Amino acid sequence: MMAEILAGSPQQPVLEINSLKLVFPVYGAEISALNNVSLKVNAGEIVGVVGESGSGKSVTAMMSMRLLPQDSFSIKSGELKLLGTDVITASDKQMRQLRGARVAMIFQEPMNALNPTRKIGRQMCEVICLHQKISRQAAFKKAIGLLQEMQIGDAEQVMGRYPFELSGGMRQRVLIAMAFSCEPELIIADEPTTALDVTVQRQVLRLLRRKAKSSGTAVLFITHDMAVVSQLCDRVYVMYAGHVIESGNTAEVIESPAHPYSIGLLQAAPENGEPRSLLKAIPGTVPNLAKLPGGCAFRGRCSHGDSQCAQSPKLAALDGRSQQQVACWHPQRIESITLQEPI
Ligand code: ATP
Ligand code: MG
Repeated sequence: MMAEILAGSPQQPVLEINSLKLVFPVYGAEISALNNVSLKVNAGEIVGVVGESGSGKSVTAMMSMRLLPQDSFSIKSGELKLLGTDVITASDKQMRQLRGARVAMIFQEPMNALNPTRKIGRQMCEVICLHQKISRQAAFKKAIGLLQEMQIGDAEQVMGRYPFELSGGMRQRVLIAMAFSCEPELIIADEPTTALDVTVQRQVLRLLRRKAKSSGTAVLFITHDMAVVSQLCDRVYVMYAGHVIESGNTAEVIESPAHPYSIGLLQAAPENGEPRSLLKAIPGTVPNLAKLPGGCAFRGRCSHGDSQCAQSPKLAALDGRSQQQVACWHPQRIESITLQEPI
């Protein structure tokens, strides 16, 4: 009920990152993992973060929960607020109060996230009882209801099974049910469906979207796959080498991407698991983050660049688009690209 009220309230960010610069000091050098990243997730919204390997997606997700190893990183500038709490300066106790109860996380590999030696029911009930003051019996009932919402028909039987006795898709649905079990305001999901085949992935995404929308839970969904974004997300941020290079409503960014890198990502996205006729890999690789050249980070791989690209482009609105922003001196206008229908 509370969640529904929140979802209906005027846009109120549950996660707000402003110009965050984060480095990993290593061997006398610094890996610039996040370079002035700004990103916002409003209550009840499903927001995607998409980019190639090494673009800073997981660092963004982990830092939002302050789950990066404490001495491994340094914040150079910027702000990060999670449900109004300043994550950079919060105490460990404050962070513990947020994690699990108000913000849940779903990881890519369900076998690592589930305890292999405990039955599903016991694990779910433990999580529920840890964060909510309800009896074990009520927690058990709640767990069954959540599994049923994830379309696990024989929920009671599944509660009595060990993780290894379930298929990958089933385990991922159990993890999603667990993430929702404490009625969080935000779920951060880092590539949770990447290991699944396309059909199972689509089913899992549909269930996740339905449950998020019915409960008013916001989702920050990390993926390298634009097809997943097009199915699931209301808005999207495209990341490259630790920079947000484009953002906007999913439909705008998918149908008319403006940054040459976003265009490349879209053209490289398979459709229904099959390569699309347009399929082209983006030539080259992500630059070395310990030696980022000044200016646009993509310019070494871009066929539209010129001398202006030696200056860093800022995210700026695009004419005629409601929310789309692009960090590029030479935004492109291309014929519209179609991907997967929203689910
Ligand atoms: P993938 O799609 O492969 O998961 P990603 O976009 O999630 O990629 P990140 O894991 O966020 O990428 O990493 C961004 C950069 O930060 C990479 O260059 C990575 O090597 C570096 N990095 C991440 N964690 C650390 C760490 N603890 N120490 C040093 N460098 C790190
Ligand atoms: Mg990652």
